[in-house]
Amino acid sequence: MSINKESYAYGASKSSIREIAAWGAARKAEIGADKVFDFSLGNPNVPAPMAVRSSIERALDLSPVELHGYTPAAGLPVARKAVADSLNRRFHTSYSPADLYLTCGAAAALSITFNAIVERGAGQEVCVVAPYFPEYKVFIENAGARCVEVMADADTFQIDVAAMAQAINERTVAVLVNSPNNPVGSVYSRQNLEELAAVLREKSREFGHPVYLISDEPYREIAYAGVEVPWVPSIYDATIVCYSYSKSLSLPGERIGWVLVPNTNPDHDDLVFAVAGAGRKLGFVCAPALFQRVLVDCVDEPTDIAAYERNRKALTDGLSELGYEYVEPQGAFYLWVKALEPDENAFFERARSLELLPVPSDSFGCHGWVRVGYCVSFDTIVGSMPAWRKLKESYGA
Ligand code: PLP
Repeated sequence: MSINKESYAYGASKSSIREIAAWGAARKAEIGADKVFDFSLGNPNVPAPMAVRSSIERALDLSPVELHGYTPAAGLPVARKAVADSLNRRFHTSYSPADLYLTCGAAAALSITFNAIVERGAGQEVCVVAPYFPEYKVFIENAGARCVEVMADADTFQIDVAAMAQAINERTVAVLVNSPNNPVGSVYSRQNLEELAAVLREKSREFGHPVYLISDEPYREIAYAGVEVPWVPSIYDATIVCYSYSKSLSLPGERIGWVLVPNTNPDHDDLVFAVAGAGRKLGFVCAPALFQRVLVDCVDEPTDIAAYERNRKALTDGLSELGYEYVEPQGAFYLWVKALEPDENAFFERARSLELLPVPSDSFGCHGWVRVGYCVSFDTIVGSMPAWRKLKESYGA
């Protein structure tokens, strides 16, 4: 028997976020759903827009052979054109359908991107801004690079550009950013991204190869109070964008997203081939055909953020009244709350004993915090407040 040790380790260790969610589901069955306050998952509670349903119904008029058949590996030309046209309208760009490769969500988009740029066995590195989405490390290591964690600025949770400059060396192939951010809810300002871009340009010149900027943007549409979410390729030429409709259209189970290789990239044509080759190597074949068709109709469908906005207000008002410290969320649907003791796992266990289920920050590469996902019902937010109060009181505060 031969088993890959790394794959075994990933499978056996599981994701702690999913383990907390599974514990929450079992606990709900035991004591009642309204008595457990599960803030663990990033699964949107807002339904997909009606336009998605209408589009699916229209697609059913196609012959089954056409509807369920393979599409080109990069996606249906009509779907890639719909996405390119939408981006060009919104960001005043001139992308063509050929710059896009449709994927099974952002997870596949990221895996494809890392496999497109990393030379296996060459000791390369990808820098991430910590705290970060835990699967990044899995995808980066699987592509054959080392994941280098660079802490965000401790006060603002913007990119610490000086620390990033220190971490980048001749082995660095890319810096990965995610804004609006999971798990913190921060949105990187234009100035912050411009400062990062200046460092990346300087390092690319110094090392004689581009240091790519990978922008992972599944939460782009979920931004509050008119905060600007800058279009990263307009700030740095050698950017690759990974996107998904999991959050913006509430379609996480349908697995649809894309990689964009903007035409600003100095080695654009080679990158486009490498992205296609990585998709092939990884055996993705094509993104789900039905949802490629849905994109044609729904690519410009607005994201309904009203429920997240209401939850965000109720949660931040409630927790600040109780004296919790947190980072004011500008986007996504997560609140980054300071644990009431340095050990976030001890804090989590005390929270769990009160039926509160946030995610301890060690899952995201740092200590002393928890992530509270507020893509849940409003009743869950309101109903959880007595437990948050008891938790605070249990620390004598
Ligand atoms: N990137 C970030 C920051 C995420 O939070 C997620 C999912 O929660 C993903 C990527 C993966 O998204 P998808 O479900 O589209 O693969």
